Amino acid sequence: MTAGTTTPEGRLRYGLQQGDPVWLAFSRVGGRHLGAIAALILVPASGPLVTLLLVSYLLRIWAMEAVYHRYFSHAAYRAGRLTQFLLALWGTQCGQRGPLWWAATHRAHHRFADLPADPHSPRAKGFLHAHARWLTDGRWLSTDLDVVADYARFPELRWLNKYYYVPLYLAVPALYGIGQAGWLGPHISGLAAVLWGGFLPTTLALHMTSFVNSLGHLPSFPGGYRRYPTLRDDSMNRPILGLVTLGAGWHNNHHRYSAAARTGFAWYEIDGVYWSLRALQAAGVIYGLKGVIPDAILREGGLVSTKQATRLHAKPGASAETG
Ligand SMILES: [Zn+2]
Ligand SMILES: [Zn+2]
Repeated sequence: MTAGTTTPEGRLRYGLQQGDPVWLAFSRVGGRHLGAIAALILVPASGPLVTLLLVSYLLRIWAMEAVYHRYFSHAAYRAGRLTQFLLALWGTQCGQRGPLWWAATHRAHHRFADLPADPHSPRAKGFLHAHARWLTDGRWLSTDLDVVADYARFPELRWLNKYYYVPLYLAVPALYGIGQAGWLGPHISGLAAVLWGGFLPTTLALHMTSFVNSLGHLPSFPGGYRRYPTLRDDSMNRPILGLVTLGAGWHNNHHRYSAAARTGFAWYEIDGVYWSLRALQAAGVIYGLKGVIPDAILREGGLVSTKQATRLHAKPGASAETG
């Protein structure tokens, strides 16, 4: 069906946007891993390269969590049309396909979490499928635009979703040029910039996101806790994942209340993306940030609201966790 066709019920239908064939999806993921391995073998690590890796990784994992996840999947804040497109463009740099594809598969994940129809559930199909194999599963390569009709109505987003690899791959010659021009310092060549600033951090960002899908739903693996005994899914809060994904690892909180732009509910659950989004809202770049967790949800998790905590702290000897 043509994008934007109106059904007899008057509902807009955008249909299915064809994704890569399995062999190409496999080649893209495989090629990136080869690049990451080449980085480690061909270019010895150094201080400047590790700094480049870290900065590039943080920019890419932010793109995944702040843009693909909290904006396009959950509409947890709002942005003007140009800002939205620029965010989506940045989002492509996380190397996890297009924004509408990511959001559509993620919405399916929430809808069917840990049921057989979940695209990536370790309970339903095992760790390896949840972590990696689903990425080349033919059933999940196309984008069901109707699942993300709220964003699919923008033609520029449909275009970017189809051709996400154009800006992603354009970053390769850009990084090479920047390296060759000496903008990253005298010790980083064009090749080193591509491998350590492109292939390696993109591969790392993919695996960290994949760990949320696999270990984030695997209670038998140590190093996490379930604040909320979400009945249907096995979601976990994992502190290390929470830190390295800038907040995505507080996955059990998120499954309990996914409408919010924040995933860290307790003061010690550091949610870097949420704080950066607050800064962007303060600067007027975005608006409508959904930062409030309802008191009932906080109490259910044994936490108290910020207001209650303030009152408790005002009383001598009282202490409380803030949400
Ligand atoms: Zn999940
Ligand atoms: Zn989510």
